Amino acid sequence: MIAVLGSGESAIGAALLAKKNANEVFVSDHGEIHSDTKTLLEKHSIRFEENGHSIDIIGKAKLVIKSPGIPNSSAVIQTLKTQGVDIIGEIEYGFRYSKAQIIGITGSNGKSTVTNMIYQVLKHQGKDVQVGGNFGVSFCRLLANRDSEIVVLELSSFQLEDITEFKPDVSVVLNITADHLDRYNSSIEEYADAKMRIARNQGVSDTIIYNSEDELISRRLSVIQAKQCPVQFSNADQLLSNKQALATFPFRGKHNHFNAMVVLAVAKTLGLQESEVIEGLKNYQGLPHRMEEVARINGMVYINDSKATNVDATYYALQGTETPLFWIVGGVDKGNDYSILDDLVKSKVKMIICLGSDNTKLMSYYQDFGIPLKSCARLEAVMETVISEGEEGDRVLLSPACASFDLFKNYRDRGDQFKEHVFNLIYNTYSCLQ
Ligand code: ADP
Repeated sequence: MIAVLGSGESAIGAALLAKKNANEVFVSDHGEIHSDTKTLLEKHSIRFEENGHSIDIIGKAKLVIKSPGIPNSSAVIQTLKTQGVDIIGEIEYGFRYSKAQIIGITGSNGKSTVTNMIYQVLKHQGKDVQVGGNFGVSFCRLLANRDSEIVVLELSSFQLEDITEFKPDVSVVLNITADHLDRYNSSIEEYADAKMRIARNQGVSDTIIYNSEDELISRRLSVIQAKQCPVQFSNADQLLSNKQALATFPFRGKHNHFNAMVVLAVAKTLGLQESEVIEGLKNYQGLPHRMEEVARINGMVYINDSKATNVDATYYALQGTETPLFWIVGGVDKGNDYSILDDLVKSKVKMIICLGSDNTKLMSYYQDFGIPLKSCARLEAVMETVISEGEEGDRVLLSPACASFDLFKNYRDRGDQFKEHVFNLIYNTYSCLQ
């Protein structure tokens, strides 16, 4: 019997793959299991339990697959380990069943964007490719459906913590900046070690593509056997021989040019030509909530960057947005240091609008900047301010640098609500013209 801990996307993917490979499967979640998930498990004749783990059953499993959300320090993992149970992560389990060429992407910011760009470029060239991991469908769920020639996987540090033999043919490490440090004893070094596990099993015939200006990455390269392919962030576009192509890409900001050059490096490793990559990137369909242009109303441009849940992502949003701009910031502060934004804020921001249930830290940080500052606890109030103070040519950028849980379900909910308000604005503007 194979036991699966958790009932999220990774766990259910693993359960389905284990079942497909003719195993008896038991899913155990310490919380409630969603009703749709229960229906799916029943359909596949997979046994499950919720609201607690039965160690007597799980302890008898020949293999336990754990969700990345369950830390190794948790009581259930510790207990099972003392009983000598074999515990692996979902990515490791998938790796045992895939013959695909694997491209793995990790980093603090830009993983989903780069994963999606690579996928779209390869798809555009007619490759047999699937995309997943920490992005959309889990690796195991992809494999439970079918294997493919190439799989592009976004990998979080939590997923990488649980690998033993997994190795991508091409690994990508975009950047390492402070995030999720609560899981790593507040140590950025531990967090960086977890990210760099992506390359630990790679051999000389594999490749690692990385940001050569990131010191936390560079310091960890000496032990890596894979062929090293550096991409310099500050002049990433030097990699492109056709410089004019840059202007034709449907995304903005230095960070996205870097992302595009990482994609070029990956694609070249797979044997694609620069012109093929350019073609794919020209047609790139961006992801929602990442520098997403929502609408232009009365000459004002509304941009949704709700996925910017840390200061680093917001830095590139501010850098890549034209002025003058209204900057909507705030939410659950993860111990942010806003000082790296100072120059950009002073030179580009027309008004700072704090959106959160407690804006005290932001309000006191920005009170002496000489920039109009407003505290809002509701999006309605934000929109009223923007409408009354904004004028033609202004940008309205939601790039909060904070988590969303104080006022919203998650970053998607925050971005969707922002977009809904903008769409209402279009509707009202249009109604007024009637
Ligand atoms: P992740 O999957 O790592 O969270 P996303 O692609 O979802 O990354 O983007 C998260 C945020 O980071 C967005 O606000 C996006 O604009 C920004 N971002 C994208 N690429 C980069 C990059 N290379 N460096 C810094 N920030 C980036």
